[in-house]
Amino acid sequence: MDTSYVIGIDIGGTYFRIGAVNTQYEISFLKKCPVRDIFTTDVPLADLERYLKEYLAESALTGKVTAIVIGFPATLNRERTMVLQAPNIRFMERLPVVEWLTAALGIRVLIERDVCLTVLYDIRKYHIPMCEILIGCYFGTGVGNAVCLDHRPLIGSHGTAGELGHIPVLRDREACGCGNRGCMENLAGGKYLAKLCRDVYRDTDISDLFRLHGKEKPLLKFVDAMAVAVATEINILDPDYILIGGGVPNMKNFPRGLLEQRIREHTRKPYPEQDLHLIFTEDEQTKTILGSAYYVEMNR
Ligand SMILES: [Zn+2]
Repeated sequence: MDTSYVIGIDIGGTYFRIGAVNTQYEISFLKKCPVRDIFTTDVPLADLERYLKEYLAESALTGKVTAIVIGFPATLNRERTMVLQAPNIRFMERLPVVEWLTAALGIRVLIERDVCLTVLYDIRKYHIPMCEILIGCYFGTGVGNAVCLDHRPLIGSHGTAGELGHIPVLRDREACGCGNRGCMENLAGGKYLAKLCRDVYRDTDISDLFRLHGKEKPLLKFVDAMAVAVATEINILDPDYILIGGGVPNMKNFPRGLLEQRIREHTRKPYPEQDLHLIFTEDEQTKTILGSAYYVEMNR
């Protein structure tokens, strides 16, 4: 009988998700709650330790867990021991997450950018053959990005490779959550859509934006900004595969065909444009948690 699990944790800006993944890549003991319900004191790591001890006890998983993997919407240090910058969860920055939890729980603890776990899941789900370069572009509130070499997410000299959302764009000076101005994700991330609902389409629910206004200039401009982001990375890397996912491309009536057309328009001819392997991935709430198990497998 199977008794070994990887605990995957997805700490987002709003929700905290946790699940236990067995060796067959099935999730059990899945839980979701607001992040603020977990971190209630001014010692976030003690809060997390307490929560995990309770979770392991009530799920009867104590002694059956080979590793705990935490995905953060953040930049991490190269050694993957702490969060460097996390605009949506500032309280986790510069804390010795791995050291603290490993000592407290006696279980191997790994941390990674959430998007790197997501892309590992998508690689398996969409049966992507081993390849030299694969990129994942995930359009949520911001723009998540992972560049994989031989299916391994690129880390970078300081741990911060793959920040497509924060490449600077001309003629934009808007402040970004990262502290810089004029970042791509201000124009190509879901926060642009939220702004449209505040400033332009005040009576429209964000989920109806593409259904009601998809052919209008502000949304066409948005889709083009997404395409510019993806095509920029394609033109630099000439990837074997391009995965596009996240909440935005999975919105009701999102014009995937138009996005692909715009990406092709901005991509260099004849190659890589003539041989693009572009795959739209579905949005699933447990991707990061399942990806955690693949991450442990990759880092044995
Ligand atoms: Zn930025």
